[in-house]
Amino acid sequence: MMAVRFILGLLLTVVCLGIAGRRLMFLYRLGRTAQPLQGDRRPDTGAAVKAELLEVAGQRKLLRWTVPGVAHFAVFWGFMVLLFTVLEAFGGLVNSRFQIPFFGNWAWFGFVEDLFAMLCVAAIAAFVAIRIKEAPAGLGRRSRFFGSHLGPAWFVLFMIFNVVWTLLAYRGASINAQRVNELAGTPDAPLKFLQGAFASQWFASLFHPLGESTNEILETVLLLLSLAVLLGFTIFVTYSKHLHIFLSIPNVAFARRPRALGALQPVYSGGKKVDFEDPGDDDLMGVGKIEDFTWKGLLDFGTCTECGRCQSQCPAWNTDKPLSPKVLMMTLRDHALAKAPYLLATKEAPEGTEPTGIPEAAATEAEKPLVGPMGDESARVDEHGVSGEGVVPFDMLWSCTTCGACVEQCPVDIEHVDHIVDMRRYQVLMESAFPEEAGIMLRNLEHAGDPWGLGASMRLEWAEPLDFEVRVFGAAGEDQIPDDVDYLYWVGCAGALDDTAKRTARAVATLLHEAGVEFMVLGEGETCTGDPARRMGHEFLFQMLAMQNVETLNEVGAKRIVVTCAHCYNTLANEYPQVGGHYEVVHHTTLLARLVAEKRLTPVARVDASVTYHDPCYLGRHNRIFAAPREVLGAVPGATLTEMPRTRERSFCCGAGGARMWMDETLGTRINQNRADEAIETSASLVTAACPFCITMLSDGVAQRQQEGRAVGVEVTDVAEVLLRSIRPDLADAAAAVPD
Ligand code: SF4
Ligand code: SF4
Repeated sequence: MMAVRFILGLLLTVVCLGIAGRRLMFLYRLGRTAQPLQGDRRPDTGAAVKAELLEVAGQRKLLRWTVPGVAHFAVFWGFMVLLFTVLEAFGGLVNSRFQIPFFGNWAWFGFVEDLFAMLCVAAIAAFVAIRIKEAPAGLGRRSRFFGSHLGPAWFVLFMIFNVVWTLLAYRGASINAQRVNELAGTPDAPLKFLQGAFASQWFASLFHPLGESTNEILETVLLLLSLAVLLGFTIFVTYSKHLHIFLSIPNVAFARRPRALGALQPVYSGGKKVDFEDPGDDDLMGVGKIEDFTWKGLLDFGTCTECGRCQSQCPAWNTDKPLSPKVLMMTLRDHALAKAPYLLATKEAPEGTEPTGIPEAAATEAEKPLVGPMGDESARVDEHGVSGEGVVPFDMLWSCTTCGACVEQCPVDIEHVDHIVDMRRYQVLMESAFPEEAGIMLRNLEHAGDPWGLGASMRLEWAEPLDFEVRVFGAAGEDQIPDDVDYLYWVGCAGALDDTAKRTARAVATLLHEAGVEFMVLGEGETCTGDPARRMGHEFLFQMLAMQNVETLNEVGAKRIVVTCAHCYNTLANEYPQVGGHYEVVHHTTLLARLVAEKRLTPVARVDASVTYHDPCYLGRHNRIFAAPREVLGAVPGATLTEMPRTRERSFCCGAGGARMWMDETLGTRINQNRADEAIETSASLVTAACPFCITMLSDGVAQRQQEGRAVGVEVTDVAEVLLRSIRPDLADAAAAVPD
């Protein structure tokens, strides 16, 4: 019996691992057809180890979703512990009394193994309940599983269950076989650990009536069955989305740290940064083909678990637009696999020879443009997947607000925003293909230095209603920012040129003045930071504006900069270091919170109002500034803060990011309306934010409801204006005034 067991087990193992290994080798070769990782992007070992402990072992992001998180935690650790049982099973091929050395024969060890096996079963039951409750058949697009491969997901649950019960049943038969041996007076190595294995004991009691010899045969049959199930499952994993079991480990290790939010990466070609002042003829300008992604990109696509957490948070998806970050990842993965024979044949053909043996399907796939044409009527994202002339429909690519909700949620650290922007870069720089209306904004940036095309001469008008003088760099003949100036106040295009945002600019200036903070502005020396150009993919224009601003800032000796715009903050603090600009940048809410804490600003007047606060994506998720705006509001007497259901890391975008502010929103429902409605539902009379673009979007949403007779008396304003009403109510009206 032992010989049969050994030969069949060995055969099974060699064949199955051979098939799985062949698949893994194929995937490795496919990864080698991609671009190298950006040259200066190497994982920091300490950060990678910490991330593995937190994200993989600790399942940190998964546990944010309590029930599915706990269930996944149980399956993950259940499988980790089951690996010991698997080891025992392989050992059982050569020795029916095999035990893991040292602790393997302790009774408690058998108990722990069975306990985790049962936790796995309980978790599978929870997953079944979740999948039924959240089935796309009932919830449609509102299901986070909409668009996922549902059949394989059910099969995986079935297979995990089979792995668990066959292992336990084998151990049950082993217990009976051991008893037989003990009765025969040959207990040469009593398997004590099975005494604590309560679930295996249950199987043993089930099989016991079958008698001695049947249990011995059953032990061998169940051992081979459990190995067949396990090895078959391993093969299935390598061909399915469950490959994340293995791929999540390198994907987490090589992810951008602390997260793929904040700064966008510069454009890289072949692992080297593209020099936009002197680009090479062969430089890749973004991603135009699947093989233009780095291998980390392909790893991202392959690691997607199809859990739909990203999709459930995506503002585009939640307002019925044709973008789901999950479906995007799945689509790119499916395309890479379909094109793989073409890519491998091309890459591996000897130099000077034509690639041969490319299957027709792969050749056809290779001809598909990565991004479909604008106005493609055949482009769809529905329960059957994605269709259209391109792999990624045009509207899917351009619906993204770069809010980062997907990156924030993804349990395996996939970098959706980077991939979306890389594809946009190719579309803009190489194909000149982007939503037409955004072209006006790009032209304005190029010619006037601001998105509205108003020009530098109007950049100081915002300060005219103030009853104190705002110091402007150069006005007193200085060629460096004087030492008595605490901050350079970066007013931003909106603060200087948009009527609503000018109110915030004045409120902040007034508060700084009241607190005795010396500040200076650049006036006509400021141009747009380049944020909308960069998020649209126009890296060339971004580089131009960024270099111009950095040159100015370095020339004037700027060190500490205060900004009132979340996008300016992100660009100045996180992206300008890429072009030689290193400054201490502070958002106005952080500075105001500090001034209040230091008692340099003392809110005294009551602002009796129910207030809600909207976390701007580029302040909150991208830059983790959650507390300061709340501290400012919390310091205002009379103001009571009521949070919206989607808040802080889970804040819902206002719809303006990713240069969407400058594009028509013709598909689905309006993102800003969705968010404004959520704010209105808190019954707040003051809806606050800390970014001029959020204020504009929320104001539009509230105004729409007011036209319908709802949200009467609701006002949208910046956190700074609320503080000013409490500190100098007499000046608040002047700050809010719109000059003729
Ligand atoms: S960044 Fe925001 S809008 Fe874009 S795909 Fe992710 S969640 Fe959706
Ligand atoms: S991208 Fe991440 S969050 Fe979205 S479905 Fe895939 S694994 Fe889940």
